[in-house]
Amino acid sequence: MKTKFSILFLLGFTFSLFAQDIKVEKVEPPFWWTGMANPDLQLLVYGSDISAATPEINYSGVNIIRVNKVENPNYLFIDITILDEAQPGFFDIMFKVGNRLIPPYSFELKKRKEGSAERKGFDRSDAIYLIMPDRFSNGDESNDNIPAMFEKADRSNPNGRHGGDIKGITNHLDYIKELGFTTIWANPLVENNNPEYSYHGYAITDFYNIDPRFGTNKDYVNLVDECHKRNLKIIMDMIFNHCSIHNWLIKDLPAEDWIHQFPEFTSSNFRASTITDPYASDFDRTRMLTGWFDTHMADLDQRNELLSNYLIQNTIWWIEYSGIDGIRVDTQPYSYKEFISEWSRAVFTEYPNFNIVGEAWLQKESITAYFQKDADNIDGYNSNIPCTTDFPMYFAINNAFNEKDSWIEGLARLYYVLTQDFLYSHPENNLVFCDNHDLNRFYTSLHEDFNKWKMGITFLLTTRGIPMVYYGTEILMTGEESKGHGFIRKDFPGGWADDNSNAFTTEGRTAKQNDAFKYLQNLLQWRQKSEVIHTGLFKHFVPENDTYVYFRYNKDDCILVAFNNSPNEMKAIKTDRFAECMKDYKYAINIITGENINYLDALTLPPKSTVVLELKK
Ligand code: CA
Repeated sequence: MKTKFSILFLLGFTFSLFAQDIKVEKVEPPFWWTGMANPDLQLLVYGSDISAATPEINYSGVNIIRVNKVENPNYLFIDITILDEAQPGFFDIMFKVGNRLIPPYSFELKKRKEGSAERKGFDRSDAIYLIMPDRFSNGDESNDNIPAMFEKADRSNPNGRHGGDIKGITNHLDYIKELGFTTIWANPLVENNNPEYSYHGYAITDFYNIDPRFGTNKDYVNLVDECHKRNLKIIMDMIFNHCSIHNWLIKDLPAEDWIHQFPEFTSSNFRASTITDPYASDFDRTRMLTGWFDTHMADLDQRNELLSNYLIQNTIWWIEYSGIDGIRVDTQPYSYKEFISEWSRAVFTEYPNFNIVGEAWLQKESITAYFQKDADNIDGYNSNIPCTTDFPMYFAINNAFNEKDSWIEGLARLYYVLTQDFLYSHPENNLVFCDNHDLNRFYTSLHEDFNKWKMGITFLLTTRGIPMVYYGTEILMTGEESKGHGFIRKDFPGGWADDNSNAFTTEGRTAKQNDAFKYLQNLLQWRQKSEVIHTGLFKHFVPENDTYVYFRYNKDDCILVAFNNSPNEMKAIKTDRFAECMKDYKYAINIITGENINYLDALTLPPKSTVVLELKK
């Protein structure tokens, strides 16, 4: 026995009998890049009793700085630095147990792609199409059911998986492009191996892998490439507040303080107001931040620096690996705000021209503004998140066209939301929308009134900000949130081979759906080339007599947008009140009908209608 050991030792095969159970099962991030702005990297190493091992790296330009152990012996966190002289290639991370080695992990340093750091994120010149991937199109039936995944496809269950996937999105990029969108945002695609409700993607079980029922990591990269070929941008949805209780990290927690723990299930109070409320009790604010979102979603404690690093690196890994153009951060106010700020700073250190929108589902403009980058906050807080979801605007859009105009109701709601823009550091970076995957379908909110729908869509695409439209809006899809989320996330007709109709084609849409499709397409395509809508100034006039008029303008161009919210009265709006905007203009082109308007002294609008005029000298 002794002899055999000596020979093995001489040959360099020094696997110990005692160390044979200790092995590396996983290293995350699984690989990295040379040429990153931040030379530091923290490797999570997972394996049974791996903390008994001492790591070693012999690779020019790569040094171990520190090794961190945690409560759980199955983890090691290795701080390395990657110096400028480090060349792309593979190196072994060796692990010594006593004086013996266990099988090493071969780690790859890839060469950073040319231009990766300079990539330009989405901005106000873009229009975003939001897709719930499981419900858009099933491009690959072979991945509907995967043996290793708990939940199987069942289209008869509104809350089940329906089989939509990355291939389905990739197949319809031309459709999205033709509609006039410039950017897609897909709800999360990373692994959600949960027994139920796994389709929506917001309970992650593996931060580094695309869910196999949606496709592979390579399929995702291919989707990004196919978007870029068509000059489309793509936004990835990321979640840092919580993850699934079935996440491998939660099932074998590195340390107790990776998540907020309670003797029994304790929900968040969902009152983000407690974050800025000067009178908030510690009890309420703590409950907001530490309570769980749901019984199957463990609430992450990003105050743990190892966890914080893990999430930051995971983000940078996805950006670098896939080539995405932006991120949508879920439930921004529910994470520790210091973490959000640090996370965003780290992303912009690597990608200065990138963009991020944070979901801040809040009632008021004041608190929404607090969460936007460079806000003039009394406590000095800076989230570093450039774009915020404009929920106050969403509430206004959803009420305005259903109400009779009054001092505060009807069109006045739109007006008053915009009057609050002084609170925002960058209102032009607000994401504006009529609905999304968590809300009533816009057409349903409007009691399926097509005239109101046209008014809402016109406002959305001509107001300040970055417009986002939920898939299916173009075919007037309906759905009520109170019936269950499955009903606002219905399958797009034609996305499945056995569907009765195919709304991806003109022939497959009803006459009314084609009217809606064309109306949206016309406005989107016009918006795409109308720089004045992207970067022009905004000026409005107080709503009067059920009407509301605003202008988008710069030194060369001027757009007039008018609404008549009366359900039964035709309105003739005298334009002398708007002289400061209109005095230099002689005629106009109606961008919806294409007709020339030579008389500008008054605008005649039928009941419940809108007009968009390009003013001409
Ligand atoms: Ca599928």
